[in-house]
Amino acid sequence: MNPVYARMGTTIFETMSARARASDAINLGQGFPEAQGPADIIDAAARALAERSNQYPPMLGLPELRQAVADHYARDQGLDLSADEVIVTSGATEALAAALLALVSPGDEVILFQPLYDAYLPLVERAGGVARLVRLSPPDWRITRAMLDAAWTPRTRLIVLNSPLNPSGSMVEEAELAAIAGFCVERDLIAICDEVWEEVTFDGARHRSMIAEAGMRERTIKIGSAGKMFALTGWKVGWMCAAPELAHGLARAHQFLTFTTPPNLQWAVAYGLGRERAWFDGERAALQASRDRLAAGLVAAGYAVLPAPATYFLSIDLTGSGIDLDDVAFCDRLLDEAGVAAIPISAFYAGDAVTDIVRLCFAKSDATLDRAIDRFAAFRRARA
Ligand code: PMP
Repeated sequence: MNPVYARMGTTIFETMSARARASDAINLGQGFPEAQGPADIIDAAARALAERSNQYPPMLGLPELRQAVADHYARDQGLDLSADEVIVTSGATEALAAALLALVSPGDEVILFQPLYDAYLPLVERAGGVARLVRLSPPDWRITRAMLDAAWTPRTRLIVLNSPLNPSGSMVEEAELAAIAGFCVERDLIAICDEVWEEVTFDGARHRSMIAEAGMRERTIKIGSAGKMFALTGWKVGWMCAAPELAHGLARAHQFLTFTTPPNLQWAVAYGLGRERAWFDGERAALQASRDRLAAGLVAAGYAVLPAPATYFLSIDLTGSGIDLDDVAFCDRLLDEAGVAAIPISAFYAGDAVTDIVRLCFAKSDATLDRAIDRFAAFRRARA
C-alpha cells in the first residue's frame, strides 16, 4: 500500500458515527442534518430520475447546472463567472482531489491551515506535494501575513483555504482575505478555496469569496457543494469554478476521476439554485436558531462555547469550561458515560494540535438538541 494510506486510520467522523450507532448515542459528531432535506428538491430529483436521461451527462456537468451555479454566484456574491468556468464534480471532495492532482507536481509545496479538513493532507501527499502547515488557534483562528511568510519557500506553489472553516465555524475577515490575496499575488501562488459552507452563515454575516479579491480572478479555484447548500450531504454534487486556463487543467483531472456525476441529482440542484433569496435566508435562520438553542443550553449547563458565525458546528472550550480533560478523553467519556458523540478538534491537526476544543454539530431537531443538552448537563454534574 502507498505509505500515505498505510499509516492512516479510518476518519474520525466514520469512527465516531460507528461508535454512536453501536451504543445508540446522540450523534453530534459527524456534520449532517437530521432532517430529510427540502421536499421539492428531492421531488425534482425523483422526477428527473423517472423522466430524464439516466445515461452519462456531459463530462463538465449539465449545462443547466453550470449556468445555475454561475447565476447563483452572480446574484449572491456579485461574481462574474461564466458557465464555461464551472465544472460539476461528485462532491467538493472530488473537486479538491481534481484540483490538487491537476496542480501539484512532485516536490511542490502547498500551504495548508490547521485545523484542516481531513482530506487535504492525504490528497496533497498522494499528489507528490509537500504540505507546509500553518497552525491556527482558538478563539479567533486568525491568519496573519507573518504566518504566511514563515510558511513560504521558493518551492511553494499553492495554498488551500477553507472559509467558512470546518471545524471551528469561523470565517476569514476582510483584512485576512486581502492579506492572503496580496501574498498569493506577490508569490505567484494559486489558491484552492474550499467554500462549501458559503451559504451557512449567521447573524447577518455574508461569505466573501477569494476569487473576487484583487489579482485573484485568474489564480483562484472556488469550490462549492450542494450538500451543504441544500442540507443534502449524501448527494455529493459539487463544483469547481476557475478562469479558463485553470479550468482546462481541472477538467483533465476530473475526467479520469469520476468523469460525471448522476444527472438526476444535477437537475435537482440546478432547480434548487434557482430559488428565491428568501429561501436561503430561511434556512440560515432555522440553523441559527438551532445553534443558539444548543449554545444557550450548554452555557446554562456550565460549558464555555466559542463564537460560531458559520457552518453546522459549535465548539466547546474545555479550558474555558474548567474541564481538565483533553479533547479526546472528553469525547471518549462523553460517548461512554453520557451517550453523546462529538469530535475532538485535535483530529484536524497533523501535529502540534490544539487539544482543548470539542466540535458539536447543531443541525438537529430541537428535541435531539434538548436531549443532548440534558445529557451534557448530567455529565457536567457528575464531574463537578
Ligand atoms: N470541505 C469541507 C470543509 C467540508 O466540511 C466538507 C464536508 N464536510 C467537504 C469539503 C466535502 O464536501 P462534499 O460532501 O461535497 O464532498
